[in-house]
Amino acid sequence: MNTITTGDATFQDFDFEETLRSALTAQKFHTPTPVQSQAIPSALEGRDILASAQTGSGKTAAFVLPMLQRLGQENIRPERGQPRALILAPTRELAGQINDVINIFSRNLRLSSAVIYGGVSKGGQIQALRRGVDIVVATPGRLLDLMGERYISLKRVTTIVLDEADRMLDMGFIPDVKRIIKELPEQRQSLFFSATLPAPVVELADRLLTNPVRVSVEKTRENTPDINQQIMFVTRDQKRDALRMILTEYGSYRALVFTRTKYGARNLAKYLGKNGISSDDLHGDKSQNARTRALTAFHRGKIQVLVATDIASRGIDVEDIDHVINFELPHESESYVHRIGRTARAGKAGVALSFCDESEVSHLTLIQKELSLAIPVTSDHRYHATAVAEAAVRAAQPRQRSGGPGRAGGNNRAGGRGRQNNAYHAGGEARGGEARGGSRNGARGPGGNGGPGGYGSSGTGPYRGGRDSGASGGAPGRDPRGRRAARPNRA
Ligand code: AMP
Repeated sequence: MNTITTGDATFQDFDFEETLRSALTAQKFHTPTPVQSQAIPSALEGRDILASAQTGSGKTAAFVLPMLQRLGQENIRPERGQPRALILAPTRELAGQINDVINIFSRNLRLSSAVIYGGVSKGGQIQALRRGVDIVVATPGRLLDLMGERYISLKRVTTIVLDEADRMLDMGFIPDVKRIIKELPEQRQSLFFSATLPAPVVELADRLLTNPVRVSVEKTRENTPDINQQIMFVTRDQKRDALRMILTEYGSYRALVFTRTKYGARNLAKYLGKNGISSDDLHGDKSQNARTRALTAFHRGKIQVLVATDIASRGIDVEDIDHVINFELPHESESYVHRIGRTARAGKAGVALSFCDESEVSHLTLIQKELSLAIPVTSDHRYHATAVAEAAVRAAQPRQRSGGPGRAGGNNRAGGRGRQNNAYHAGGEARGGEARGGSRNGARGPGGNGGPGGYGSSGTGPYRGGRDSGASGGAPGRDPRGRRAARPNRA
């Protein structure tokens, strides 16, 4: 059951037509999320909107539902190559997922949509445009191609949505987006969504929007994803075994595993398959069709594991991913945040487990520093590598002059000199969201003060020391679905 809520509002409070209401009920959408309850009434009035909202907040329905209502009411037949609504998204995956949401909610509305992105042949997309569609969901590059070749004109667009504008910026799409905006009619409704609002994104919003309603979903306990982050120190050559242990003994039934390279993803998926764990790989070397197939199989529960590179860290909205596993740590904190945000969607809980081997200690240190995170360490398993853990403690405390890192739990002493670097403090509460950089992601620093930290003190169960537990509370050893997780055999 989805548990994201806001106050007492229900979808029945909005002025939706019966067809949309019944689609909402069928989808078990009863309570609007915060971004939905803030954005939908103004969007239905035709106002422009500037929304700061992350993936996972319910933002897609926040713009799709009012758009469908307005287009449905206009009751106009689509014309060849001239959509009335345009949604721009940074990645193919996100565009595909937005289109899925449109299909689900527009089933009885006699509205049509097409999705347009690169990496696949243009033929099907051109055909759909020729037939005429009401809504186009597109990535900027392919859209510009098809505009240049005159398969599509934007002159009848009355609603434009720009989704994940900050991601557009990261991917270098802002000039393309500006070229597209120039082709839009003056009279239009514009809806702008971005997780964060760096200056170039604000400048783009100014260009697109007229007197917008500002929607901002502050991160609170209720809407901050409930991600139980954990580190496992393992040697490189034991990573595969450690992964198998998690997938078979920790009660994970839908896991997204990240590698740094395409080659690594392919090999790891093969290895898992050989060991009786159903999996597929997802990365940039695969054709769009193969990527879609892998995602669909994962979505439908036909495979337990999807092994992906960072290409998949955004835009994947697969429900019930109970584990995100960083088989290899990313080099940037931003990727870390995006990756772990694939679990704990729609108000559910999830585990984000990161392996760290000897060569990755510096990446771990950087990630924790940049995100002001103190990720609890899970050491009570048979692959725990003490030497790596000690190296991590040393790296986190570069200025410590006297005394080596010592035994587990032996350093980071309470009441020690000056401020503790609590990177491995067991009582820490580490929660991560989607926003990037700094500590804006809602990640909280170490909780508690002064209990002996030290790696290895995060409890005995694989999921101890998570969300609310501090060092002692919580329900140790439970998986995110509330089942007791199998306890690994000790070596
Ligand atoms: P989004 O942020 O649009 O990617 O949505 C994240 C997830 O939340 C998707 O799986 C949606 O199906 C789900 N969702 C969005 N709004 C609601 C709602 N009001 N009630 C239940 N689930 C929702």
